[in-house]
Amino acid sequence: MKVLFVTPECYPLVKTGGLADVAGALPLALAPLGVESRVLLPAYPGVRAKLEGVARVAALPGLFGGAGELVEGTTADGLRVLLLDAPHLFHREQGGPYLGPDGTDWPDNHLRFGALSWVGAQISMGRVGGWQPDLVHLHDWQAALTAAYLHFDKESADAPASLLTIHNLAFQGLFPATTRKALKLPAEVLHVDGMEYWDQLSFLKAGVQWCDHLSTVSPTYAREILTPEEGMGFDGLLRARAHELTGIVNGIDLDVWDPETDPHLAAPYSSRRLAAKSKNTAALQRELGLDVRADVPLFGLVSRLTEQKGLDVLLDALPRLVATGAQLAVLGTGAAFLEDGFRAAAAAHPGQIATVIGFDEALSHRIQAGAHTVLVPSRFEPCGLTQLYGLRYGSLPVVSRVGGLADTVIDANTAALRSGVATGVQFSPVQPDPLAVAIERTVEWFADRPAWQRAQRRAMASDVGWGTAAEQDRSLYAKVVEHRLG
Ligand code: ADP
Repeated sequence: MKVLFVTPECYPLVKTGGLADVAGALPLALAPLGVESRVLLPAYPGVRAKLEGVARVAALPGLFGGAGELVEGTTADGLRVLLLDAPHLFHREQGGPYLGPDGTDWPDNHLRFGALSWVGAQISMGRVGGWQPDLVHLHDWQAALTAAYLHFDKESADAPASLLTIHNLAFQGLFPATTRKALKLPAEVLHVDGMEYWDQLSFLKAGVQWCDHLSTVSPTYAREILTPEEGMGFDGLLRARAHELTGIVNGIDLDVWDPETDPHLAAPYSSRRLAAKSKNTAALQRELGLDVRADVPLFGLVSRLTEQKGLDVLLDALPRLVATGAQLAVLGTGAAFLEDGFRAAAAAHPGQIATVIGFDEALSHRIQAGAHTVLVPSRFEPCGLTQLYGLRYGSLPVVSRVGGLADTVIDANTAALRSGVATGVQFSPVQPDPLAVAIERTVEWFADRPAWQRAQRRAMASDVGWGTAAEQDRSLYAKVVEHRLG
């Protein structure tokens, strides 16, 4: 089977979040299952130079206000990539994939991702590049307009099957209705049964309306987004397609996240050599100015500092964490009130709380290894990666019972402890008191070292790689293609 991924980012070429990891890892995990993938993404500055064997596939004149070309190449890992190289849209010295240097959206994002989607549709129709997929797999709003171009194509009956994965429903690609003509979309799109959303155009809605199937990154999030509380205005639309919505949990890269070989760690360890984990704890405590002690649990937190992640709730619960004697190491960047809050907490409790504001990949590995437990108190979480790293590193996750967190961590309740399956602690709802109780339960559990170590070994044996996700995606592709061929 041949699959075209259309995505705005892809590790290791360009990454702002978890979507990049999926786009970079899933095609490789699918290859041994007989799926031949190509990944289409924009040629942001520097991306083309990271590919090997770059060759031009097609010229793209008249591409939304300028000329572009489609080139192909391969990453060092063997990922086959199609780059949309359009200087007028993507060659920008400063800023990132979505935001300009002033931190706000690029004003022409509709054209930038409209063009990506349009080229995705042309490849899907077999008109560019001489390679036609059986299925086109769209990722988030930036790729979702491909579904509109395919739906309104004069030869749409020949279009391949289509699947939209929603990585985070909070991002819906909303633009003024007046952008419709520049996007070469017919007037019909401006309809409640089209992609009109409160008098605007929503790229994400195009994908939800016109893709053959929808998926998201965990089964629980797939159910949550059908409710008015979590559906972010899309719940009605999604409920209408509930029987065509599948949740598949992401994996993590088991080579990059391996405590036995991780180059960032003070000491390698594994579930057989678990004692060496404590060297990482001591090293982290020294590095961050925490008291070097082994008798209290060290909670780790690596996160974007936003309200989505429930970190205002954690600030409110901090006095109870402090009262247990436990330690906390925070690494994050984001909202000023949260950065200030965690800085103030560290200043008020030197030796017990440490805060590092910034983005630091190496330190994130050292926190996963050195912490005894990782905190993820999110209000909503489509999948979540840091709890998966925590499992792999034997740092038992303390998580809110939402989305992918609910699906990947087994709560240490009495029954789970008795039957020996617990891998962490869950709490609900996302409020200071239940979070504080979860922290206190974790401190108690940690004090029972034999029970804690058994759980660490179980957690480290959890199936968190890409294998299972790839199997599930491959079956889903087969089902969607079969249904399309009818
Ligand atoms: P989201 O995509 O909503 O931010 P995920 O848990 O899916 O949440 O992915 C977050 C990723 O970003 C993880 O790989 C995490 O380790 C990483 N990360 C977040 N904040 C930082 C930081 N300050 N420094 C280093 N890595 C970070």
